[in-house]
Amino acid sequence: QRLNNHFQFLDVGRKDPAKKPLKLRKSQFVEIYKPFNQEEVNQQAHRCLGCGNPYCEWKCPVHNFIPNWLKLASEGNILEAVELSHQTNTLPEVCGRVCPQDRLCEGSCTLNDGFGAVTIGNVEKYITDTAFAMGWKPDMSKVVPTGKRVAIIGAGPAGLGCADVLVRNGVTPVVFDKYPEIGGLLTFGIPEFKLEKSVMANRRKIFEGMGIEFRLNTEVGKDVDFHSLIEEFDAVFLGMGTYTYMKGGFPGEDLSGVVDALDFLIANVNHNLGFEKDPADFISMAGKKVVVLGGGDTAMDCNRTSIRQGADSVTCAYRRDEANMPGSKREVVNARQEGVEFLFNRQPVEIVGNGKVEGVKVVTTQMGEPDENGRRRPEVIPGSEEILPADAVLVAFGFRPSPAPWFKDFGIELNSWDGVVAPEEQEFKFQTSNPKVFAGGDMVRGSDLVVTAIWEGRNAAEGILDYLDV
Ligand code: FAD
Ligand code: SF4
Repeated sequence: QRLNNHFQFLDVGRKDPAKKPLKLRKSQFVEIYKPFNQEEVNQQAHRCLGCGNPYCEWKCPVHNFIPNWLKLASEGNILEAVELSHQTNTLPEVCGRVCPQDRLCEGSCTLNDGFGAVTIGNVEKYITDTAFAMGWKPDMSKVVPTGKRVAIIGAGPAGLGCADVLVRNGVTPVVFDKYPEIGGLLTFGIPEFKLEKSVMANRRKIFEGMGIEFRLNTEVGKDVDFHSLIEEFDAVFLGMGTYTYMKGGFPGEDLSGVVDALDFLIANVNHNLGFEKDPADFISMAGKKVVVLGGGDTAMDCNRTSIRQGADSVTCAYRRDEANMPGSKREVVNARQEGVEFLFNRQPVEIVGNGKVEGVKVVTTQMGEPDENGRRRPEVIPGSEEILPADAVLVAFGFRPSPAPWFKDFGIELNSWDGVVAPEEQEFKFQTSNPKVFAGGDMVRGSDLVVTAIWEGRNAAEGILDYLDV
């Protein structure tokens, strides 16, 4: 009877999965949400109205068939749901966990009109996790091998998205990564409290079973040269991310105790996963007064990692107001609950200290007119300087592309901000100025999201298939 109730959303409110106890969250590197059970999925997924022209699908960057797999999941039909979700997404279990749903699929759900959006992300995660637990694997029995091989540089979401589509179309992908595990920033960036590392380790087994070959601990340009890849393979895909750290450009950034966000997060992952080469590489915030500068996802991850490492206090200073923060709203809530203090409208102008960091000098800002991207500019209030005491400062101002020096030897063109030029709108989607080379993800669009990197990788694979004429 419940399955025919189109007004379920009137009887059943939106419910997010329960979070683990705060005490545990603050000390352990484990995912903070408990998984949904099938009954909760039945209830929550069935709230979907099945809109004729679903806004959630349009807003989801990979255009998942959301109402369709919500319906299958609400009926307990997990194996059909997982097949459908993999038609558009390479890593649904990851997106379900880390997408900022409040500004993507769930943000455009019709039920936001006073009823509370359907919990799309958590159902997506449930479908894949449950299917894996049931032993589901992608069915490759109908794939016809083409004999073509493509080298993929980077095992992040862009490279994996590309490999997934290629292998399902009979092209063998060989994925090179300098790190010892696949995932890119999913493994060496995003902390375990958002995405446990077993998720990617499991995915690696699935990918290998599909016929994707990984050559890890292999840096292209150092351990293997790009020329040999161009010679050996039918095409090459670049999904190398963006790794040039943005700086504040104010005095004191070189003081001891000032650390770049990603160096801190990677050291923490290496420590937790046993990849640490030298114990001295670990950067501990235990017992320290930590100030985190920035307001994006990376800043939130630094805040919450510092808490778990046992920081004495964690203060996050951001130069705009809370409404204009780029980080996921959900993660700001989580950070606050875990004990992070936010100081909005504070712009750092200097890191002060004698030989080592002792504080951050900030000025107060107020929100001015919108800039060219529509975000309101922070304006400094004269005479508002104050010093935030600190033993450690984590700088999370974002990333710029890090083009390899060998790009120019192969005619791979860059744009004005060093991104690789590989447009979608052309005969072969995401082809670079070297016809045999394609590119996607953060290195093409600038630092963005997991789901947009997956989308570009998958679409670049379509460009490669057209180029190879298979
Ligand atoms: P990457 O994930 O960076 O992968 C690039 C890979 O290329 C790396 O594994 C690297 O080792 C490899 N590589 C580079 N050069 C070479 C070479 N020469 N040889 C071999 N391998 C090479 N997005 C979200 O959607 N939600 C979040 O919650 C979120 N949190 C984030 C938190 C942090 C701390 C950071 C830094 C980013 C976060 N993001 C988040 C953004 C998201 O992780 C990225 O947008 C996404 O991973 C980009 O994918 P990519 O494949 O383009 O690059
Ligand atoms: Fe939402 Fe991201 Fe899943 Fe798309 S991939 S449905 S945006 S959680």
